[in-house]
Amino acid sequence: MTTVKQVLERIDSLIPHPLEMESIPLDQSLHRILRESSQAMEDQPPFHRSSIDGYLTHPDQPTGKVRLLSPHLPKAPTPVLPSLGTALRIFTGSSLPSGAALIMQEDVRILSDHEVELLKKPTSSLIRHQGSHAQKGDTLLHSPSRLEPGSLALLASIGITEPKLSRLPRVAHLVTGAELIDPSALPQAGNIRDSNSTMIRSLLISYPSNPVWHSRIGDDRIAFVQSLTECLSYKPDLVLLSGGSSVGEHDHTGSVLKELGFEIHVRQVAVRPGKPLILAQKGKTLAFGLPGNPLSHFVCFHLFVRRALDRWVNQPERPFLLAELASGAELKADLRETWWPCRLATHNTTLKATPLAWRDSSDLSCLARANALLRIPAGQEAGSPVEVLPTMPW
Ligand code: AMP
Ligand code: MG
Repeated sequence: MTTVKQVLERIDSLIPHPLEMESIPLDQSLHRILRESSQAMEDQPPFHRSSIDGYLTHPDQPTGKVRLLSPHLPKAPTPVLPSLGTALRIFTGSSLPSGAALIMQEDVRILSDHEVELLKKPTSSLIRHQGSHAQKGDTLLHSPSRLEPGSLALLASIGITEPKLSRLPRVAHLVTGAELIDPSALPQAGNIRDSNSTMIRSLLISYPSNPVWHSRIGDDRIAFVQSLTECLSYKPDLVLLSGGSSVGEHDHTGSVLKELGFEIHVRQVAVRPGKPLILAQKGKTLAFGLPGNPLSHFVCFHLFVRRALDRWVNQPERPFLLAELASGAELKADLRETWWPCRLATHNTTLKATPLAWRDSSDLSCLARANALLRIPAGQEAGSPVEVLPTMPW
């Protein structure tokens, strides 16, 4: 049986390079990976700007009465520097001449429409100087980096509206199992609601990808071959096959993949839950045969499928976190490496992982609270600190 580490290494070797780049409008770039570092195309701020509503004066202007010039609006061209004894009304964001001084409106007494009294000496410290945030040519975002709302706003502020990003992997999901029904259907004896389709659909949103095809079939092998053939015509980078990856007589995943020209790289993994995992490859297409049991499906997605998605988009490797092991459900060690659902939370300044109870690999109830998986090494008791894999973008 292959170990978790060996599967991860195999995935890395099967995906030596990220997918090609594409230019995407900013408003569709959330959570995508930037592939080109981004430079400021002009100084930031691009001109001296006022940080206050107040008055612009000569830098040597002392306190006392000054004559008001006609007011200046934020969008107007840069005014000339007022001469001593005069002041100009300005607003937050107004463009300012070099060598200016400012005074806040709170520090000014209005005497008439044409005259004010400065109660303090004007100062240049209220100016946001040209280039004080960044200078033309400075790199503001490095590649690769994951674009979040803040970094998208930064790109907008420097005029990069179509950043170069990794293309999203095209993902297909084929769910197998004669017992499965749509979650909206009324179960008859022996029916199980298909929860893996919903799980994978939402995981593929959380860990960006391009879902190109989905279908649900029974356990008929001929239908499986036909369905997978149709799936491959959609040119997926990744095919996720739910169920049938074990060795029972209704488990066709391995043999169907072989029949359609896939090379099987992994047949079983020493992991709990999730042992019946298949990793196969045909040309540039990877396929995972994922165990149908929903908790195993969840664990295998986070441990293995995410690794492939990350490699394709050039997401920097996400190291496991270290957390203190809190008391919780009784942890059972196993000869297989175990990834145990847990709740990760900070207590004061410490990250703590509280194990959650689960009965077997079909038990989804713990996923109501789980936000991470904690690692129990093969054949060992869980110690503290413990390695943790968050199951929500971290
Ligand atoms: P399999 O991997 O096909 O042997 O399925 C293992 C167990 O997982 C069976 O009890 C199935 O009923 C269950 N199962 C398989 N696929 C799904 C699914 N899409 N949603 C919920 N349970 C499933
Ligand atoms: Mg099945």
